[in-house]
Amino acid sequence: MTEHPLPSGDRRGELAARLERVRGRIDAAARNAGAVPPQLIAVTKYFPADDVRLLAGLGVTDVGENKDQEASAKAADVDDPGLRWHFIGQLQTNKSRSVVRYAHAVHSVDRPGLVTALGKAMAAEQIRRDGQGQPPRPALECFLQVDLRTVRPADASGPAARGGADPAGLTALADAVAATEGLELRGLMAVAPLGEDPADAFARLRELSDRLVADHPGADRLSAGMSADLEAAVAHGATHLRIGSDILGPRPSLR
Ligand SMILES: *Cc1c(COP(=O)(O)O)cnc(C)c1O
Repeated sequence: MTEHPLPSGDRRGELAARLERVRGRIDAAARNAGAVPPQLIAVTKYFPADDVRLLAGLGVTDVGENKDQEASAKAADVDDPGLRWHFIGQLQTNKSRSVVRYAHAVHSVDRPGLVTALGKAMAAEQIRRDGQGQPPRPALECFLQVDLRTVRPADASGPAARGGADPAGLTALADAVAATEGLELRGLMAVAPLGEDPADAFARLRELSDRLVADHPGADRLSAGMSADLEAAVAHGATHLRIGSDILGPRPSLR
């Protein structure tokens, strides 16, 4: 194979340097917490498939995307069986069939209707694979996204909304995932609310996680922590970090 010339400005070197800084922060945070370093998920939304390939070459094994249209095209383009794709955005039920074709995990399970749709999509996907002589895919790992705001307006779609289920609904949602063939309940996911110390929010998340684990011992993972608050997340037991801008750089402006 011939080596492609470096993209202008040495994108690989830039990504390598940013990745190394982030890995250093994660290791330091884990040492402080006396924890094993969490799984890093590089959030590649808005960035091209070439960046995903460069990151894979730098040892990244897990990538995150928040829109099905972008993610499905990128996963097909990169076509690297060594990469795990994590779906981390608001998910419409009618995208479920597409998502289960490439996603290892969905971090944004936030309502019973989506659980039903993902279960049906998994069943259809196994039939599709069987028809093509492919082995079945592993269960879809599911994280329940929880809304950590202490005050939730009745209109859940305001500018402060960052998605997620009301904590009061978590038990029913967890039971639904656990009862659905093809889905594996892994734990909780949250985005720290704006206007609050993320450490306080992640402390609440940890309590919700402890309660969930009492009923579902296998659901002990916590997807929490982004570029700005990964240290607070690790201090409160994060097992999966979703880091975008500190690895990829500032996101290109939205069209
Ligand atoms: C974009 C995004 C991230 C990454 O955020 P950064 O601040 O760029 O690290 C993490 N989680 C979710 C749900 C996202 O949409």
